[in-house]
Amino acid sequence: MTISHDKIAPLVALLDMPQRVVITIHYNPDGDSLGSSLALYHLLTAKGHSVEILAPNTPPPFYGWLPSFGIVRDFLAETAVCVDLIENATMLFSMDYNELSRAGKMEAHLRNAKVPLVLIDHHPDPEDCTPFLFSDTKVSSASELTYQFIRAMYPNDVLSTKVAECIFTGIMTDTGMFQHNSSRPETFRIVADLLECGIDKDKIKGKVFDTSTTDRLRLTGFCLSEKMVVMPELHAGYIALSMAELARFNFQKGDQEGMVNYPLKVDGLCFSALVVESEELIKISMRSKGNFDVNKLMRKHFEGGGHRNAAGGRSYDTLENTVNKLEDVLAMYKAELALTHKDTTEC
Ligand code: 5GP
Ligand code: MN
Repeated sequence: MTISHDKIAPLVALLDMPQRVVITIHYNPDGDSLGSSLALYHLLTAKGHSVEILAPNTPPPFYGWLPSFGIVRDFLAETAVCVDLIENATMLFSMDYNELSRAGKMEAHLRNAKVPLVLIDHHPDPEDCTPFLFSDTKVSSASELTYQFIRAMYPNDVLSTKVAECIFTGIMTDTGMFQHNSSRPETFRIVADLLECGIDKDKIKGKVFDTSTTDRLRLTGFCLSEKMVVMPELHAGYIALSMAELARFNFQKGDQEGMVNYPLKVDGLCFSALVVESEELIKISMRSKGNFDVNKLMRKHFEGGGHRNAAGGRSYDTLENTVNKLEDVLAMYKAELALTHKDTTEC
């Protein structure tokens, strides 16, 4: 997206004076929401603003190495402090989410706020909730758009290595190390600039992708050898995990990260899902290839949403009923899945 001078001029003027900035990110924060918000945090604190980052629930501890990860507050754990921060903010940012409901219990507080709210995101159909909406579904990640936003706001700045590391982490995690949504040359021009700002790409890649616990890796093995269900006639596959199975592998929040991608590696499949049972709900992740739209499917059947090829949702039914429903829903999309399979395999 081209970020016009007219659109950012009021924000440049506002940030010319010290502000109390509160940055919020989406429920179940990921590398992109943490990367984009921490990049903004480092940039704005260096410019003399007071900056807070609020997450709707606990961020995964395996991102603990991100510079200043420790400042991210968990709204559920510190509700009163966080409400106070939002109410006293002079400027709000919403990073990596397209509807205020994705901010969990912070939603009402954000809706009531009377100060400028800047939304930077790359999910489809953004909510029309602010005049400062920066949304582009073509970019790889909210972090890429944050880079463009920062460059537009401060064209003469040299980015600090910390800012660059956070942005790179967001781009790298949302693209799965440049496997998805990363065919635009512009993404690589930005990465080239980040390398020139001094990031150590291999170190960051190692921190994100090569730090599994033994239990986590063994859980992956268990999923692939015992739990992956492949339905060749539907070009679909899924993995469903009960709480008892997770307990066998001392499951920690985030251990399932990336697991949903495995069924898509099977030749002939263009849809995959991961269904994970927990005390409160059943979390569903979906991934697809080509034009098969899991955002729409999630919205219609599993109270969720996301992107065309990556979406999340939930069920409050039993694991067994949820899996049965998933299979029934997929059967309804048989023709569409067959067409996607044809489209994605034809050269
Ligand atoms: P994941 O499967 O990794 O949780 O999510 C995949 C993508 O869908 C991410 O971009 C995530 O932000 C988005 N997403 C996950 N859950 C939801 C949801 O409940 N609603 C919406 N709108 N997006 C979601
Ligand atoms: Mn994202």
